[in-house]
Amino acid sequence: MTIRTRFAPSPTGFLHVGGARTALFSYLFAKKNKGVFILRIEDTDLERSTPEAVQAILDGMNWLGLKEDEGPFYQTKRFDRYKAVIQDWLAKGTAYRCTCSKERLEKLREEQMANKEKPRYDGRCRELNLSETSEPFVVRFKNPAQGEVIVHDAVHGDVIFQNSELDDLIIARSDGTPTYNFTVVVDDADMKVTHVIRGDDHLNNTPRQINMLEAMGANIPVYAHVPMILGDDGKKLSKRHGAVSVMQYRDEGFLPEALLNYLVRLGWSHGDQEIFSMQEMIQEFSLDHLSKSAAAFNTEKLLWLNQHYIKTLPADYVAKALGWQFDALGIDTSKGPTLTDVVTAQAERCKTLKEMAEKSQIFYEENFTPGPVANLDEKAKAALEDLKAQLMQCQEWTVEKLYDIFHAIIESHQLKFPQLGKPLREILVAGASPLPINWIMKLLGKEKTLARL
Ligand code: GLU
Repeated sequence: MTIRTRFAPSPTGFLHVGGARTALFSYLFAKKNKGVFILRIEDTDLERSTPEAVQAILDGMNWLGLKEDEGPFYQTKRFDRYKAVIQDWLAKGTAYRCTCSKERLEKLREEQMANKEKPRYDGRCRELNLSETSEPFVVRFKNPAQGEVIVHDAVHGDVIFQNSELDDLIIARSDGTPTYNFTVVVDDADMKVTHVIRGDDHLNNTPRQINMLEAMGANIPVYAHVPMILGDDGKKLSKRHGAVSVMQYRDEGFLPEALLNYLVRLGWSHGDQEIFSMQEMIQEFSLDHLSKSAAAFNTEKLLWLNQHYIKTLPADYVAKALGWQFDALGIDTSKGPTLTDVVTAQAERCKTLKEMAEKSQIFYEENFTPGPVANLDEKAKAALEDLKAQLMQCQEWTVEKLYDIFHAIIESHQLKFPQLGKPLREILVAGASPLPINWIMKLLGKEKTLARL
């Protein structure tokens, strides 16, 4: 059997971290089992779905590198298929037309509430076998009246629902459009999905979906309902907590590797390992170690992981993401140090690439005014002159060579480090960078260093 998983977002907003995590789990599980990862856009809610949100989801998936094997499929392109299933079910008596008016249903609801009963459809039209009339109707699925549905959930274990608790779900509205739980079922059946990994806010939909999958004669997938992600204050993650859109993390200077690594550990563990490359995630991922309890978002840990990847991924790879940050700041980096050199110089000091770009602007500044160099004594002046002369001769503008030149001058002029280092830092970057002096000269380059001296 080929394992087939899917990520099925509704495009009503951006790709948020909760969605990204279920996408990641579905992706990993498919990859680990040499299976197929499907992307399905659940855009049937025409009022709430927007093309911008679809694009935002595709951009987010693309940035994270979670490439689908099949799709993206769009539910709005499958209306004919949904209609065909509805017709088939009506013909077989698996579904029925219901002409109960809004007023009747509202009254029923009020009565049930007054009797402290759970509001539910009472099945008035269930056995009437109504044919198509001019009267408006919805189509309802004839849910089994007796028995129970057991959801074998990989996270929550067996969860049992009584059919008597489930009323007859509307599968087509009066305008003929199919409803959410129904389209999911048709798609999961048609796409031969074997494992459904999604947020546990969907757990209550699952018994209804299982009953409908059975009506379709489809295999019942394995379900894994993962707990939601909370903010660091224990409340449901929302905009209040800062970045919740995946692309906002890119904007804030995070690497996709860091966010993925962070997300995989939110609700899943492999011993006490914290750092996972994509390859390791694929190798180690399993549904057995998913946690039942909600995971709280911890920005400090994400920052820590981000710096880890800034420091350990190849500098020329990180440089590409850094370039994006400079573009966002409107800084032209063509006349200045290479981005790879900036990454090498700054990796130890920056937790995000946004921070790195901001702290490195000074190296691209064209109209630079040196800081005030007050009370420079004769000794320091002479050392600076000597330094300038030696730098002019320097052919090999490397951090090692620049280190040697600087330290040889301190020694020969019998100065303490700050006596030369402090004024030099003012002259070169006006105190705007705490990098070691040799790195500052390296990043400025020979021409700018000499011009500022
Ligand atoms: N479209 C649903 C959502 O975005 C997910 C449906 C599913 O995974 O079954 O919440």
